Amino acid sequence: MPKPLPAKSPAKPASAAARTPSKNVAAKKFAAATDAKPKSATVKSAAKKAVAKKVAKKPARTLGGTSTGKAASKSASKPAAQREKRSARLSPPEIGEMFSRLQSLNPHPTTELEYSSPYELLVAVALSAQATDVGVNKATRKLFPIANTPRQIAALGVDGLKPYIATIGLFNTKAANVVALSQQLIDLHGGEVPRDRAALEALPGVGRKTANVVLNTAFGEPTIAVDTHIFRVSNRTGLAPGKDVVAVEQGLLKVVPERYLQDAHHWLILHGRYVCKARKPDCPHCVIRDLCRFQDKTPGDPEPVAA
Ligand code: SF4
Repeated sequence: MPKPLPAKSPAKPASAAARTPSKNVAAKKFAAATDAKPKSATVKSAAKKAVAKKVAKKPARTLGGTSTGKAASKSASKPAAQREKRSARLSPPEIGEMFSRLQSLNPHPTTELEYSSPYELLVAVALSAQATDVGVNKATRKLFPIANTPRQIAALGVDGLKPYIATIGLFNTKAANVVALSQQLIDLHGGEVPRDRAALEALPGVGRKTANVVLNTAFGEPTIAVDTHIFRVSNRTGLAPGKDVVAVEQGLLKVVPERYLQDAHHWLILHGRYVCKARKPDCPHCVIRDLCRFQDKTPGDPEPVAA
């Protein structure tokens, strides 16, 4: 007759074994875990590689969402500082730095036109369209000692004025305008140059640029008259890019720090006239070369000596 199993030594249920694992059970678990690990690591690593491949194929995305995969792979090989693409526009600190440098090279800039009264300046600026300041000065050095008030010029008349300014381009039209604006100053403003944009722009031959120069240079108003030089410098450097002079003027008035507004006009004109020239800008000697965004800078070793 089979012997009954002793009641005090029943086989341990699996759950109990799990609750009080013996060294063997723990060892088995450890072994199972260590056996499984290489497998799962291999799978994970393969998956990682697959994802990495996918990511490499996809166009990279930046916060702005504008980078391409090519750009990203290029930039990945560059240090972080170089990777950061500069904006096409100068930042406010860069603009401050730009004017600080222009100011230190020329603390008191002014127009190169010779004048001794707002009226003389108005006439000189009116004559300077499509002419050089040097050419205008040559003419006005002869004219102003003879006639330098609205009444005197009006008295000269168009035919009397022409011989003085015949060396300046478009002198026929300019003579007619200067005599007419002189008469208007007598008729409407008591022979004085008005300190008012609308009144200035209402004068014959006086446009926004001339009005801005007179307001800025004769009356100390913080205006900026955008001529060909300022237009070029503002666009090349990234200071205030714009498709026409009004857009550039408005851009400049927004970005030029207030403390530089009064003189910005002169600094930018002089910079455009003597350094940032139309045909071959003198980039190697340009004091703002490192800030400037112009892509086709004239090559040469940087040597900042001129504003
Ligand atoms: S670096 Fe060259 S293009 Fe730029 S502002 Fe200077 S002269 Fe002009």
